[in-house]
Amino acid sequence: MSKPKRQPETPAASLDLNNTKVAFASLSDGQLQQAIFLFRVIGSPTVVKLGPTLAGLSLKLRLPVQGLIKKTIFSHFCGGETIPDCLPRIQQLGSKNVGTILDFAREGGGKDADFDIVTQEIIRTIDMAAQHRKMIPFAVFKPTGVASLDLLAKVDRGDVLSVDEQSAYARVQGRFAAICEHAAKKRVRIMIDAEESWIQKAVDTLAMDLMARLNKEEAIVFNTIQLYRHDRLEFIKACHETAKAQGFQLGFKLVRGAYLEKENDKAAEDGRPSPINPTKEATDREYNEALKFCVANVDRIAICAGTHNEDSVRLLVDLMAQHQIAANDERIHFAQLLGMSDNISFNLAASGYLVAKYVPYGTVAELLPYLTRRAQENSSVLGQSSRELDLLNREWARRKAAK
Ligand SMILES: Cc1cc2nc3c(=O)[nH]c(=O)nc-3n(C[C@H](O)[C@H](O)[C@H](O)COP(=O)(O)OP(=O)(O)OC[C@H]3O[C@@H](n4cnc5c(N)ncnc54)[C@H](O)[C@@H]3O)c2cc1C
Repeated sequence: MSKPKRQPETPAASLDLNNTKVAFASLSDGQLQQAIFLFRVIGSPTVVKLGPTLAGLSLKLRLPVQGLIKKTIFSHFCGGETIPDCLPRIQQLGSKNVGTILDFAREGGGKDADFDIVTQEIIRTIDMAAQHRKMIPFAVFKPTGVASLDLLAKVDRGDVLSVDEQSAYARVQGRFAAICEHAAKKRVRIMIDAEESWIQKAVDTLAMDLMARLNKEEAIVFNTIQLYRHDRLEFIKACHETAKAQGFQLGFKLVRGAYLEKENDKAAEDGRPSPINPTKEATDREYNEALKFCVANVDRIAICAGTHNEDSVRLLVDLMAQHQIAANDERIHFAQLLGMSDNISFNLAASGYLVAKYVPYGTVAELLPYLTRRAQENSSVLGQSSRELDLLNREWARRKAAK
């Protein structure tokens, strides 16, 4: 009988993303137990339903809950309150070759003075990245941290702006430029997060102008592409044509997208078709097609794959091998959120890929909405059993067996 033909091993097939020893190497036994406890607590639908309201109320009433939140959920998912607070975390991740992306949590607040404060803080994160290049490969900001959602939406719709609005918009353009020019001066890559689709055309225009100006030699400015939108693959291709014609590099953070319900609800409210793909499978397909297109055009497109999806991670690893791109090629990064999918981040980094974690920082009150979203994702409210808890439990069992 002839032997069955052996399938050629792909790099992804030999990449073990479930090695919990590597994933949780930087957690002591005590920290591992604490993480298990935390994921058990936030896995409870009641806690996730009532927790955020109670926490918000307690903070407003100045009840002493801040310390408790800080020691538990905050310390798991956040770097600290300030940039210097985050340094131990940056070094801990860095010791395992995992980078940090400092993510300032404060929302713009709606006033120009607030937007200017956020702009200055983002510039400080760029300076910090310039000081710790290897450990901080990107800086990032949210458009609504430096501009009002309403104004961006008006520009997006092509509304006629009043004189005051025109000068407010000129200041928005000035803030985007100040951040990105500072990043270019320091040669620090800067990502612009994506938010609601009804401001994205305005943000895309700003991002493309900045890329055309500042990405002449290498990708410094990165725009974010949400592949849960059904029109984004075409958008990537159109950007590629423009960049080729005008001679600049593109930088894209590729994500699936975080505002699914809000987008569908708003489209229904406005009586227009939703911009979102009809199914999760369609989103997965679009995401993976985007990876294929970008990797095939890596001479002009640098990417940061912001995803916790193991299939997409494996696909990207295989695509890199197919195109003979080294694991540590600076044009391709992987990124996950702090406290989530450590199995992906640390195992990829151990195999030589370039990986970074979003490390949010700010006050407990500023981070409460972010922490609520993390709790919801990891709770059975969404009908998902916690993958994180499963991995943490497996590591605890492994350590007990090894003793
Ligand atoms: C480093 C990093 C940076 C990020 N930055 C941004 C950002 O700037 N803007 C932003 O919006 N998000 C951002 N996200 C969040 C991201 O968009 C996803 O919400 C999150 O990562 C979950 O998607 P996933 O790729 O990890 O995989 P999965 O868990 O496999 O996919 C879940 C995603 O699939 C999509 N989806 C789920 N159900 C359906 C459905 N029925 N129909 C269509 N699509 C569906 C949704 O986008 C959902 O979030 C970021 C994530 C990371 C890790």
